[in-house]
Amino acid sequence: TERPRPLVAGNWKMNGLQASLAVAEAVRDGLDAGLAARIDVLVCPPATLVGATAAALKGSAVQVGGQDVHAEANGAYTGNVSAEMLADLGARYTIVGHSERRAYHHESDADIRAKALAARRAGLVAIICVGETREEREAGRTLEVVGGQLAGSLPDGATAADTVIAYEPVWAIGTGLTPTVDDVAQVHALIRKELEGRLGAEGAKLRILYGGSVKPSNAAELMGVANVDGALVGGASLKAEDFLGIAAAY
Ligand code: PEP
Repeated sequence: TERPRPLVAGNWKMNGLQASLAVAEAVRDGLDAGLAARIDVLVCPPATLVGATAAALKGSAVQVGGQDVHAEANGAYTGNVSAEMLADLGARYTIVGHSERRAYHHESDADIRAKALAARRAGLVAIICVGETREEREAGRTLEVVGGQLAGSLPDGATAADTVIAYEPVWAIGTGLTPTVDDVAQVHALIRKELEGRLGAEGAKLRILYGGSVKPSNAAELMGVANVDGALVGGASLKAEDFLGIAAAY
């Protein structure tokens, strides 16, 4: 089967004021046209900047996404943002179930599945995040935990056009630590097997991103692992030069 088209996505988290539009514009301006023909590039700024970023990047090869959505389209949910609202601003993707949402907002797999379905309803691609904690890895429970999160978070009928999976070991996020390439290969192979079990042939087409301390210096090694179809980048996505350096691993 053909290899899925790679996706390099930047998660800005709760960083960025209006002046940070310059980072998104620098990614747009610095992205090599040949590279843009081979891979998808996405920036996910905070919700406050999604509209302005989408407007600034309109017509370019760089797409814009959100970092979370509420499951409902609208209603009495003070402070929340729906998938329809992000789509209305020009977003094409949204992250759901990031480990920081799972940890600080107590999001369950069922919550995340509902958010992924909301993204689909609004025409957004959901990037569903899964990953084990350090304690879970040390207890030898990585495959069980990741498999369980995937089973619970992935909606039925997911397709490559509406769903991306991101494997992000919690202990590798923002720590400078990364799993070995063998460990990444093992988890991505498990995810691929589960996707094919749930979705049949379509499961071979979904992109599985690796995330957790990806930098320009380790991107080529991590992106070269079997079943790694791109990267979800946190800290290094805040600097256009570093983010483009990671994309250049392709
Ligand atoms: C993330 O939080 O999605 C992430 C991968 O962060 P970092 O690249 O900073 O480890």
